[in-house]
Amino acid sequence: MNKINYYKKSIEEIKKLDYKPSLLLHSCCGPCVTYPLTFLYEHFDITIFYNNSNIYPESEYNLRLNELKEFVKNNYPDIKIIIPPYNNEEYNKFLKSFKEMPEGQERCFACYAKRMDEGFLYASENNFEYYTTTMTVSRQKNSQKLNEIGSLLEKKYKNVKYFYSDFKKKDGILIGSRIAKENNMYRQDYCGCIYSFNDKTNRR
Ligand code: SF4
Repeated sequence: MNKINYYKKSIEEIKKLDYKPSLLLHSCCGPCVTYPLTFLYEHFDITIFYNNSNIYPESEYNLRLNELKEFVKNNYPDIKIIIPPYNNEEYNKFLKSFKEMPEGQERCFACYAKRMDEGFLYASENNFEYYTTTMTVSRQKNSQKLNEIGSLLEKKYKNVKYFYSDFKKKDGILIGSRIAKENNMYRQDYCGCIYSFNDKTNRR
């Protein structure tokens, strides 16, 4: 199947804007938000949504959140961060049926969709004009899949537009890493859930 150029789509959407609409930006950690904020900040009125009950253990969830808060406070003090309740136990029940699957396949697609659906719901109930996620900046995450999910969700939540993106394009990863280094940010070595945590531990 032909891949869609979601980077091009993001530029086309930005060109259409004649004011700064509100955007709820899902972010999973500090380093992942660095490049998307440089890309989006001047075009949107951004609120960050740290919706990541997938992250195990809780100390890691807090570590990533604190890095994100510190980065935003120092670089984008006008941006607010919304933090929905953390419930990793519940999240693990959801992921359990996918536990035998390797990273990057159905388990991850379900995980993207769950967090994005929750983000869209929040955006819809709180009258945000756009929703998107920083996850397309990650080398390990499937941008085509993320955008396909976004496309389905904007049909479900009709009052919110999905901002299509491929933040890893045009040196997004490189620029993001440089900003993370300049800000002395903690950079995790596994994706987040208990399965990726165990894989990392077994690799050692
Ligand atoms: S590896 Fe990452 S994307 Fe995949 S299920 Fe775990 S936390 Fe979710």
